[in-house]
Amino acid sequence: MVDPKGFLKVRTRHELAERPVAERLKDWRDVHQSTGPGPWTAEQAARCMDCGTPFCMTGCPLGNLIPEFNDLLSRGRWEEAYERLSLTNNFPEFTGRICPAPCESSCVLSIHQPATTIKLDEQTIIDQAWSLGLVKPRPPQRLTDMTVAVVGSGPAGLACAQQLTRAGHTVVVYERADAIGGLLRYGIPAFKLEKSLLDRRLEQMEAEGTRFRTGVEVGRDLGWDQLRARYDALVVAIGSTEPRRVDLPGRELKGIHYAMDFLPDPTRKLMGREPINNIDAAGKDVIIIGGGDTGSDCLGTALREGAKSVTVLQIRPKEPSSRPDDRPWPTYARLYNPTSSMEEGGHYEYAVDSLEYLGDGSDDRISLDQSSAPTGFDRDHEGRVRGVRVVDVSRDDQDRIVPHPETERVLPADLVLISIGFAHPETATLTGQTGIGLDPRGNVARDADYATDRDGIFVCGDAGRGQSLVVWALAEGRSCAAAVDRYLTGATELPAPIRAD
Ligand code: FAD
Repeated sequence: MVDPKGFLKVRTRHELAERPVAERLKDWRDVHQSTGPGPWTAEQAARCMDCGTPFCMTGCPLGNLIPEFNDLLSRGRWEEAYERLSLTNNFPEFTGRICPAPCESSCVLSIHQPATTIKLDEQTIIDQAWSLGLVKPRPPQRLTDMTVAVVGSGPAGLACAQQLTRAGHTVVVYERADAIGGLLRYGIPAFKLEKSLLDRRLEQMEAEGTRFRTGVEVGRDLGWDQLRARYDALVVAIGSTEPRRVDLPGRELKGIHYAMDFLPDPTRKLMGREPINNIDAAGKDVIIIGGGDTGSDCLGTALREGAKSVTVLQIRPKEPSSRPDDRPWPTYARLYNPTSSMEEGGHYEYAVDSLEYLGDGSDDRISLDQSSAPTGFDRDHEGRVRGVRVVDVSRDDQDRIVPHPETERVLPADLVLISIGFAHPETATLTGQTGIGLDPRGNVARDADYATDRDGIFVCGDAGRGQSLVVWALAEGRSCAAAVDRYLTGATELPAPIRAD
């Protein structure tokens, strides 16, 4: 370490500055100023104590070699820092931007001081590596004659495909959307993750030999069993895309959509592609049900589209629970640490449950809180949505939700976005065509080595784990690649950072 006592000299974190709200709401570019390395870079890296018990590395599902890359960063040894980072992480430019950084929560320095800026250090190293031309394709030195189909091109599928391609196998990634990337492409908005970062990575992967097929829905356009027969191994990386439902009375009204019907279109437009659903928040009163990652992304998107008002309904209370078991990760971190979208506008209502969607099909008014209720609601639930009837809630000592009927009121809404998470992957054709087993939650069942109960079929990412995070998808993709390589060749030198749960 260039300065082993760096943490005693610099006790504060350098945070990447965000662009002014008024400026960033006018575009879809990254909310952060991209400054590249600065005088703070070495200082911040030197705050890493080289503590000898790097819990940060166990906090990171990828097992990133954090003290080592921080040491190299503090010395300005960019190439070595990049090499060290790439040993464990295929795409640090994604995690360096959008990971909630469990590594930082595990940083030993955080016992007495703000944690080391691990995520920013990671982003700085990889951005600089790209600027310096250090990130080059790494095609395999020799090819095996083995083939692998990876279905789904999110972070799990991409990490798995890159590892297997570099190991010499011929890998084809199938994706039902018209562009590669999974949620990195059409879920996470460009103001959190600019799509040029993804595009340049895909160029690298293509140059290494990975092949991509878009617009192919496996199960419909091509059978799962056909694919299994055509390839030596098959990896299911289809994500967890079945949304959790809020089927309240009035659900059939127009203007009520799932978040993932709303989020892709702005990115499509930025990419010069036709929008698919044409759900526009401009000039509308928007209600978002659910205030996690996805809800926050809907908020930032609706504000950029020029919504008249945005209200995010959160069933949890504003203050975090004092009970550790009531702090679900990553929801907990996302709910109680403000996101960039929360700083941009909108209004959060905490400890509120939704009861009913109300439409404009008649002038039958409801007689709850008329002062706050827009006029013209329809209890028959016809026409377009005009409001959501809500009630304040609390929890009793057995953690049951208790509504307080006297607080019932109607919040105006011409657009409602349901964003309370995802239940499990879409598996109807997969199970129908292969007979593959599911776990009790509806995810694809696997053993600790990512193997399903069908020979040669593996699963990784949200499809097996359930809705999670990019960093877990990458770690699973890498580990699954090792398992597939071992299945194909009898041995593997590929790293496997985590076993499947
Ligand atoms: P996905 O990224 O979901 O990719 C699966 C792909 O499979 C999709 O492209 C899908 O079209 C394709 N597919 C499905 N079925 C088929 C089929 N039959 N044939 C062909 N293709 C198919 N995590 C973070 O760490 N930080 C964040 O800030 C963050 N923000 C998020 C914001 C939103 C709106 C959402 C929804 C999630 C967010 N997450 C975030 C979670 C993270 O994006 C996921 O955990 C991660 O993308 C899962 O990766 P995956 O590869 O398993 O699946």
